[in-house]
Amino acid sequence: MRVTRHRRQILLFLTAILLPASVLIGLGSLTIVQERELAIKRVADRRRDALEQAGRELFARLEAIKLREINRLIRLAGTEQAKGPENPAAILVAKIEGDRLILPWEPAPQPDLRASTEYNRNRQEGEAAEFIKKDSRAAAASYRQAVAAARIPTERSEGRLLLARALAKTGSSEESFRNYRALLTEDSDGRDEQGVGYRFYAAERLLQTKREDHSVMSFLSRQVSGEVRLSLPELYMIRSLLSTLPEPEARNLQASIAGRIRQMEEVVELAKDFQRVRAQIESAAGPVWIPYGEEPWLVTIAPPATPLPGVVVVVSSAKAAPPGVTLLGRRAQGDVLGESFPGLHVKWPENRFLEEGRQRSPIGLYGAGLVLVLGITSFGGYLLLRDVNRDIRMTEVRSQFVASVSHELKTPLTAIRMFAETLALGRSRDARTQSEYLETIVNESERLARLVDNVLDFSKLEQGKKIYRLRPTNLADVADSAVRAMQYPLAQQGFQLHVSVAEDLPSLRADPDAIQQAILNLLTNAMKYSGEAREIDLRLCARNGDALIQVTDRGLGIPPDEQKRVFEKFYRAPSHESRLIAGTGLGLTLVAHIAEAHGGRVELQSSPGAGSTFSILIPIQGEA
Ligand code: ADP
Repeated sequence: MRVTRHRRQILLFLTAILLPASVLIGLGSLTIVQERELAIKRVADRRRDALEQAGRELFARLEAIKLREINRLIRLAGTEQAKGPENPAAILVAKIEGDRLILPWEPAPQPDLRASTEYNRNRQEGEAAEFIKKDSRAAAASYRQAVAAARIPTERSEGRLLLARALAKTGSSEESFRNYRALLTEDSDGRDEQGVGYRFYAAERLLQTKREDHSVMSFLSRQVSGEVRLSLPELYMIRSLLSTLPEPEARNLQASIAGRIRQMEEVVELAKDFQRVRAQIESAAGPVWIPYGEEPWLVTIAPPATPLPGVVVVVSSAKAAPPGVTLLGRRAQGDVLGESFPGLHVKWPENRFLEEGRQRSPIGLYGAGLVLVLGITSFGGYLLLRDVNRDIRMTEVRSQFVASVSHELKTPLTAIRMFAETLALGRSRDARTQSEYLETIVNESERLARLVDNVLDFSKLEQGKKIYRLRPTNLADVADSAVRAMQYPLAQQGFQLHVSVAEDLPSLRADPDAIQQAILNLLTNAMKYSGEAREIDLRLCARNGDALIQVTDRGLGIPPDEQKRVFEKFYRAPSHESRLIAGTGLGLTLVAHIAEAHGGRVELQSSPGAGSTFSILIPIQGEA
């Protein structure tokens, strides 16, 4: 019976709570999974869009730089002092000659030497006088003539340098300095075969004299910040000259040209590697920019178009990249930027798309909602189960009650019937026996009436219809009639009832029938649960403003954990001994109710095996 009930409850819980809950969880999880997939897809879409956009933007920027730089080259065609690229992102704009890259600082093709044969002749004479004849004066004179005959800046600068050197040897150091200084201040563009301007040699000589540090320093800083493009050998020379200068300014300048030197060294590398780079660019179907080096640089070739031969344009990816986009070279990991940029990858800022994806899919919110719904459902299920359980328990108790009542009714009824039949058949002629039988019949009828009274009172109590009629009552009289009613059953079962009524007990307002019913219930219980003991006390007295009605037995007693529960309706102690004694579980419920209806209470002292004392306390509240 219990097992099937349990099974039914589990089934109920499963179908009413768990099944819908699991469907809910399933649907919720499905939504979450779909949301997550959607978020991932959204991220992928945004990433693709961002990539396309970055590719388009970068291509437009690079092409604009290329166009501007090529136009500049066309504008400046023929001018030797080609400045560096105009755009700060452009690193190199260089012409292609055959299969070679011409670096802008490389010496221009040798000019027509025929125009300066006189210069050459004078210079050679000077060198012969200086080094073979060791005649510095004659050498200085020849060099002076060479300077006068010079037609191009290179000759003029070289002549001056030679003249200054010869003058120094003749001892005319002032004039020698003047010539050196002139080389510095004129900023002449003459360069030797290594691509080093003669002015730098002049600076070197002036530095060796230790007299002109200041003018050399200002010359060097003018060179570094000036617009004239310096060659790599010139930068190396500036670096070594600066290292001999003590001024702090020299250190700053050194640091500032270090980057330029590194960049130019890389450009030289690129020039060496040019064939490979060119093959890569030209193998592509359309115009492409390919990554080169660590940063990486972006390199393209503009095909020959009159008046220009092919031109290589190199742009810094860090400077040209659209904001928020980092570009990486060949070996890097990342999104490939597109057909126009073979081998170029994009690195996005950390979490750029994840954040956007997350913002749009409130998965946390769904989760919290699901947990909330589940919590509410489970709580509802718990309440439902508790209710169902209580109802089941109530039904059980009621059916048990019906069985107990029937059983209790049956005993007196059987006795009444038996004695009545015996009398009716006239079997007992003895007058004493007859009166004994009659007494038993009356007594059993009273017991029956008490039982029915209890049940009826309880039902009224349940319906809230029980009414107590309070009137001035003498408790001693009430107790007396209760004792009288119990006298026969007590005597029959061999009980000794000790009654003690205090003399000063005042009368009070009470419902005498209800009080009598309570005393009868307590006395009946005392008899029922006395076990082997045969003594019961009934005591009436006044205590602390209360009237006290106390019934004591020396029987089974009640374990402490059950003492509260014995007053609950239908409650019967579960012990084996109590179970064997007939009862409905209503007697004490009524006692407690009657006491409370009189503004009082019931107290219980009991210890198992030693007996129990039930005390009804009713406030006296001024004498009635
Ligand atoms: P019942 O009809 O079962 O006697 P009651 O409400 O009068 O119903 O008592 C409730 C339970 O309290 C009893 O089943 C019994 O176990 C316990 N009880 C009541 N009176 C006593 C007593 N005097 N001694 C021991 N147990 C008692």
